[in-house]
Amino acid sequence: MNKLAIEGGTPARSKPLPPNYPGAVVMGQEEADFASKVILGQSPFRYYSPNPQRAAEQLEDAMSAEMNVPYVLGVTSGTASLIVAMKALGIGYGDKVIVPANTFLATPGAVVCCNAVPVFCDIDDSLNLDPAALEQVYDEDVKAIIVVPILGNPVDMDPVMEFARRKNIAVIEDIAQSCGVKYKGRYGGTIGTIGAFSFQMNKIITAGEGGAVATHDLKLFERALRYHDQGLARHKARYGIDSPDEEFAFVGQNYRMSDITGAVVFEQWKKLPDIVTSMRRSHEAIRSELASRFPEMQFRRCPDPDGGHIGSNLGIILPTKEATVKFNQAMAAENMGTYILYAGLPAYRTPAIFHQRTADKDNFPFNYPFKNPVVYTEDMCPVAIDLIPRTAFLPIAPTLTEQDVEEIIEGTSKVYQALRDQQLVRQ
Ligand SMILES: *Cc1c(COP(=O)(O)O)cnc(C)c1O
Repeated sequence: MNKLAIEGGTPARSKPLPPNYPGAVVMGQEEADFASKVILGQSPFRYYSPNPQRAAEQLEDAMSAEMNVPYVLGVTSGTASLIVAMKALGIGYGDKVIVPANTFLATPGAVVCCNAVPVFCDIDDSLNLDPAALEQVYDEDVKAIIVVPILGNPVDMDPVMEFARRKNIAVIEDIAQSCGVKYKGRYGGTIGTIGAFSFQMNKIITAGEGGAVATHDLKLFERALRYHDQGLARHKARYGIDSPDEEFAFVGQNYRMSDITGAVVFEQWKKLPDIVTSMRRSHEAIRSELASRFPEMQFRRCPDPDGGHIGSNLGIILPTKEATVKFNQAMAAENMGTYILYAGLPAYRTPAIFHQRTADKDNFPFNYPFKNPVVYTEDMCPVAIDLIPRTAFLPIAPTLTEQDVEEIIEGTSKVYQALRDQQLVRQ
């Protein structure tokens, strides 16, 4: 096999991989046309305008029809979708919310924004929340679990839902990184009590910013609708809501989706099936070939027996941190950069969260006098500490060609074989 690029050999690819923005790299005329219609119609606001294009509404209807969930609401971001979901559930001061140790800052951040306190649950070799670890972190102040399918891999929802039913608490699915993911045939975001989506640049489909919530529960939906729009419930008839505002309104905020965002995400949503099909095909080709060449290679586990992942990233679990650092450096030199998540740390190790510092007085809401105080210790989620820094993710763009896939297989094999030769991985 030829010399590693990091040692002066020829890189397996002459150019870097396409950027890791699945939706943005297929963005084009369709998004431009619909956004133009909204702009030239002088109608960027969803609820009133001279010439309504109903773009946000069309997005919600399309998501609802495809995902088989009756209520979908566009909002301004993924963070907003989590906040709106928790406010709909009535989560607030004095409540705890379980979140996985492996997630982006926005997940615990949204909990804090709702004046509740995040409690971190360990993960397993799916790199997602470990349902078997829920009992350890649960107490009676816990009102909800947020599950997060990280980088396209579904969460093992059956045991999570079973646990939540037993404790009578809600399940919020933070689908930000995994739009289109499925578990046992159902879309992620429609299995729990409420689903939260993001359309930020780095996500599967995008308008730069944007988000959505989805639920089967009309009562919860009405609360989400009101919270996201200053307590109002506009377009009531569209949802079959008949509650009078005087009785049902509460103080809300503004998390309304712009109709320009709605137009762009609507066109992106139509492209999602092709994006997922393409990513899954490349993912499968790369994974199965690597598995046959290197039988000991460990991949992140997919908890769905039907393989409901979307293929956006291939997770390779290496035996040590040292091997992972070398792997990532060598892969970057081959022009197929792989990466570890979140600087290799669980979310609770971020200083602001670890030290429970907020923008509010007395570090509200962490100052709540819980019967069981929430204390974070460095090693409280040992599996997350162990697995996050030794899982290398290979991003898989929807635009990869057969030649790209071949080059990735050859380059990864070259780098992995070198790790074998240096005995950094055991055969
Ligand atoms: C990106 C992300 C969010 C937040 O989404 P924004 O649209 O950026 O607010 C929430 N949760 C997870 C897991 C994310 O990756």
